[in-house]
Amino acid sequence: MTTPLAIGIDLGTSGARAVAMTPDFEVVAEGSSALSDHGADIRDPHVWWQAVHAALKVTLSSLDRSRVRAVAVDGTSGTLLPVDAHGTPLARPLMYNDAVEDTALLARIAPLIGPDSAAHGPTSGLAKALMFQAVPGAAKILHQADWMAGKLAGRFDTTDENNALKTGYDPVSGAWPQWLAETGLRIDLLPRVVTPGEPIGRITANAAQAFGLDAGVIVVAGTTDGCASFLSTGADRPGDGVTALGSTLTLKFLCDRPVFAPAYGVYSHRIAGLWLAGGASNSGGAVLAQFFGSEEIERLSAGIDPDTQTGLDYYPLLKPGERFPVNDGAYAPRLTPRPADDAEFLKAMLEGMAEIERQGYARLAELGAPALRSIRSVGGGAANPAWTAMRQKLLGVPFLPAHSEKAAAGTARLALMATQAARA
Ligand code: ADP
Repeated sequence: MTTPLAIGIDLGTSGARAVAMTPDFEVVAEGSSALSDHGADIRDPHVWWQAVHAALKVTLSSLDRSRVRAVAVDGTSGTLLPVDAHGTPLARPLMYNDAVEDTALLARIAPLIGPDSAAHGPTSGLAKALMFQAVPGAAKILHQADWMAGKLAGRFDTTDENNALKTGYDPVSGAWPQWLAETGLRIDLLPRVVTPGEPIGRITANAAQAFGLDAGVIVVAGTTDGCASFLSTGADRPGDGVTALGSTLTLKFLCDRPVFAPAYGVYSHRIAGLWLAGGASNSGGAVLAQFFGSEEIERLSAGIDPDTQTGLDYYPLLKPGERFPVNDGAYAPRLTPRPADDAEFLKAMLEGMAEIERQGYARLAELGAPALRSIRSVGGGAANPAWTAMRQKLLGVPFLPAHSEKAAAGTARLALMATQAARA
């Protein structure tokens, strides 16, 4: 029997990527397409669809398409659009980083929103949904991933628990909460919520024909780009942490129980029967980039001895203010005294960020998370051996390789779940 394949599609901030994955998590084909290749307007849902279409075509071009059993889509978290009953977009979407500017509306709803909810603030899905419900003819307000999955499944009424979180969904009770109606939101406009990895329906005859896929292919509920990136690493047990050493330093931590601490910006996504808690520091590679280019960081790092410490106790920030692991809007950066030797200066910054990482996992444990048992590292800083050695010493748990860093691979894992459930 030929090995079945699942397709994961990631619609990110700059383009779409698709991967085809075997049940052993091996990526056997992939394709990508930049949004800018399909039009200048990255808010145009038709540009999203064109990019997804192109990425999927490339991925499928080298495959025996009859092996494909399921497909799932992730999108940027907090990107929403209103659609009519046929899924036709009725207004320009509000993107993940767009802020709703109606301060009176934000002030009115703030006290009504559940204290642990991820729906607080001007970029929340809830604030955007409240803007869109006035659009004439709106039948549903969808997240980006819901709409893309809808294009494949021919139904525009379903979201997943991860995309729904910022729109106010309560993953603990497993429902849109009562207080949502008190904000004035029309609940009938919200999509039904299913578990990531749960089938939404069969692919439409049109989509099957357009992509040369079998009519039995299942469209599976996806997730957000952030959750998909986590899933792609292969972390799958409570206590598994993923540290992203990109422009910002973010921690994602798989837990056997939900952890919520809005003051620290900590929320939990329901994922694969567990809970994915996360926290984001304002520290990170962007602070390094202020002083050194990537090549210089690499060159200087080669001369760092990870077995000694500078003792400079830095807290690298671009400007005052920190949210996690310390919640203090005025928290002061500590980047002095600056040693004459650049390698020593860099080492002190890396040391400072390793300490923030340690404190981050400790904060999550204090907030109720289980003990840390492993770390996978992703992002630009993950490839720095001296930093890795410094972090390993400080954190004292095994460092495991990330299977992948590509969100599309994480989403393919969700699509695989449905193929496995179908076979069971
Ligand atoms: P983004 O979060 O923007 O996607 P990346 O994951 O691409 O970021 O990482 C880029 C960041 O990594 C930059 O801020 C840069 O300063 C930092 N960086 C690049 N090379 C290294 C290195 N060898 N060691 C530590 N940090 C690095």
